[in-house]
Amino acid sequence: MTNDANQIEIVPIPAFSDNYMWAIVDTKTGRTLIFDPGEAHPVIDFLEKNKLTLAAILITHHHHDHTGGITALISRYPIPVIGPLNDGVTSLTKKVNEPDEITITNFPLTFSVLAIPGHTKGHIAYYAKGMLFCGDTLFAGGCGRLFEGTAAQLYHSLQKIAALPDDTKIYCAHEYTVKNLQFAALVEPENSEIQSRLQKVKTLRENNLPTLPSLLSEEMATNPFLRCHQTNVKSSLENHAGKQLADKIEIFAELRQWKDRF
Ligand code: ZN
Ligand code: FE
Repeated sequence: MTNDANQIEIVPIPAFSDNYMWAIVDTKTGRTLIFDPGEAHPVIDFLEKNKLTLAAILITHHHHDHTGGITALISRYPIPVIGPLNDGVTSLTKKVNEPDEITITNFPLTFSVLAIPGHTKGHIAYYAKGMLFCGDTLFAGGCGRLFEGTAAQLYHSLQKIAALPDDTKIYCAHEYTVKNLQFAALVEPENSEIQSRLQKVKTLRENNLPTLPSLLSEEMATNPFLRCHQTNVKSSLENHAGKQLADKIEIFAELRQWKDRF
């Protein structure tokens, strides 16, 4: 099957205070995929209002704000639930891991699974040409917290994402962009692209619009967690830590700790 971008529409369904559950709608058939349904009722409302059929659920990691709606959805719709092999998600019908390829019956996209541990030990992402659904690993302007993995694991997971094509759209699961870029501006006060992006996303939020998806190229230019190789990021982190940092993983670990306290 080929990826037909003209035939699909991607919509964020808000959940809780700052989650997005991404819906991919095949506009020809109404068949719809939902990523990380933390809540069921906004998904059911969305499907019913738009007369759509749920085709499958895809899960990135086990946290409740990404999985809490599964039970109610599958009791209503008999559909596959695809998710990570090693992350302790219950009620999956299909467990996947890198380098699996996923096709869904009568759906015009094929996804590649990427293993991106760090936020949780078995966190995965779903990549189709031009789009990445990455849960709580890469955020717009930031990255997920280290709950189960090591800094080295999360660093390498983000580097794996950084190697995707520049024009990949990043569909992450939380609206954290303004706060992330305020932190990015503190790390790199001289980076004018961070300032202009921060203004842009503030305006979007003032108008109650999502700041997502972002573009990987934007992240490479403004997200400090993808910029540990830059000399200004290194010196900023060394100033903050009050010591020399030996390599990119030490820089990344220090950056993650700084952000945890921000
Ligand atoms: Zn999470
Ligand atoms: Fe989350």
